[in-house]
Amino acid sequence: MFDSLQDRLGSILNGLTGRGALSEKDVSAALREVRRALLEADVALEVVREFTERVRAKAVGAEVLKSIKPGQMVVKIVHDELIETLGSEGVSIDLNAPAPVTLMMVGLQGSGKTTTTGKIAKRLKDKQRKKVLMASLDTRRPAAQEQLKVLGEQTQVDTLPIIAGQGPVEIAVRAEQAARLGGYDVVILDTAGRTHIDEPLMVEMANIKVRTKPHEILLVADSLTGQDAVNLARSFDERVGVTGIVLTRVDGDGRGGAALSMRAVTGKPIKLIGVGEKMDALEDFHPSRIADRILG
Ligand code: GDP
Repeated sequence: MFDSLQDRLGSILNGLTGRGALSEKDVSAALREVRRALLEADVALEVVREFTERVRAKAVGAEVLKSIKPGQMVVKIVHDELIETLGSEGVSIDLNAPAPVTLMMVGLQGSGKTTTTGKIAKRLKDKQRKKVLMASLDTRRPAAQEQLKVLGEQTQVDTLPIIAGQGPVEIAVRAEQAARLGGYDVVILDTAGRTHIDEPLMVEMANIKVRTKPHEILLVADSLTGQDAVNLARSFDERVGVTGIVLTRVDGDGRGGAALSMRAVTGKPIKLIGVGEKMDALEDFHPSRIADRILG
């Protein structure tokens, strides 16, 4: 399963068979390969450093079991540590609050926020029989509001009617009122994104949060973000406070490094992954699958 890293480690370590415990020197040599595999998977540098130190602490002095080769042993330690860092399976969206439960979607423009809003609404409606209202708070791009409306029609989920001239906070408050009056279980706020993180964006997100007190704030991030994943996750988490992460475009990402980077810096669970453009292309997050991808 982990052929590539295992092959590399095999050539470095397998001469050790029968020598007992892994020495500091053996582990250092192995960790150079581990570090390379993580960087190839586009895990952020600071996360790679921290991660390899944790693996070092566990590997040095570890007894090599007779039944496996030293290379396999290190791969196992790395794999277990990856799973532990990536977190447990099946942390789903938390709806455990009085209805209507507010979910706020945040992230950069183009990350897949609107698409994911539609997917989550459809999933809650179809699988959990929830009555869902979606609202677009993107007043700068009328096309974004129209896009959500079209997704609502496609998935048969209600969207909040657009009133020209309203700002994001007003729309958010109106969405919650409409949800309360209309007997909705869940209201999803699809906030505006920007092409990059800037102060006005963070202020807008913070204002919406203060006024609506969302039960979940989900950071939607493109899994192809690479080294920037750390800054992105840290900024949103520090300024707005996220409760979970949704990784999109996992269908196009052979590497999976962003998952590890974002989870490592925020400690927040990856709740769902987007695996395509269609409205049902949303899956639960399985740490072991991402760990396998990262190890190659
Ligand atoms: P927003 O600006 O953050 O609201 O991003 P959009 O929801 O408009 O998504 C931008 C583009 O990414 C659209 O063309 C989506 O169809 C596409 N997209 C979103 N999620 C996924 C995904 O999980 N996989 C793939 N392949 N494409 C996606």
